[in-house]
Amino acid sequence: MVRPGSACPHCGKFIQFYDNIPVVSWLILRGRCRNCAGRITPRYLIIELLTGGMFLLCYAQFGLTLAALKCATFGFLLLGLIFTDAETHLLPDKLTLTGLALGLTFSFFVPVNDLLSVLLPGIISIPVSPDLSSRLFSFMDSTLAALVGASFLYGAGAIYLRARGVEGMGLGDVKLIAMIGSFLGLRLTIFTIFAASLAGSAFGLWTVLAVWVKRTQRRRHAFHDTPAAARKRAWGSAIIALRRYQMPFGVFLGSMGLAAFLFRHWLLGWYMS
Ligand SMILES: [Zn+2]
Repeated sequence: MVRPGSACPHCGKFIQFYDNIPVVSWLILRGRCRNCAGRITPRYLIIELLTGGMFLLCYAQFGLTLAALKCATFGFLLLGLIFTDAETHLLPDKLTLTGLALGLTFSFFVPVNDLLSVLLPGIISIPVSPDLSSRLFSFMDSTLAALVGASFLYGAGAIYLRARGVEGMGLGDVKLIAMIGSFLGLRLTIFTIFAASLAGSAFGLWTVLAVWVKRTQRRRHAFHDTPAAARKRAWGSAIIALRRYQMPFGVFLGSMGLAAFLFRHWLLGWYMS
């Protein structure tokens, strides 16, 4: 999907179709180009394995149904977005907005079964067949989650920008959570936002601590600082690293969205109790 024109990055030779079979080719050629023997990154191999595993999980959960297709579509888009964000810090509209449209469409055929589907039928009745009305309520659930998720991240991004003067969240993240919302419904979207914020913060903290420890050791060995002086100076570097650090928030949103979808029964049971 995100293969930039299947050519070898070393010699530029186009990779022949028989050397371009997912997973198998990489294993046969042991990660090297047939022409120049240059190393080919296992990134695609990893993405292909994850995508394959994802499809199997969807099939195991839903069998050959539309729900399985929805699951596979969601997983495929999210894996693409997670790796694109990690590598380029970009979340292409082509994936997020297409995903949003697909999520909204799927809600007509695979019930989202969130708050509105539970609450609304007792309050308002739509003068159409029960089947169509439940599809409409499902669509409303999908739309509501997309809107609430997007507004929440947009608001949080604006506050963050004012407080720190740097962009912590981009419009790409806002579109991504809208897409996730359209697939998941409101409750799991809220879970995704909070879990992603926690995971992102933990990762940021870990990065800062890693810089601190590394720099402290360097100051001690290369500059022969006293332990206290080394720690103090290294802390200064860690703070600078923190300021410069740009969290690929889409990576966390995407992986937590995926986790929310796969563990939704368990999560929703826990949510309700
Ligand atoms: Zn080559």
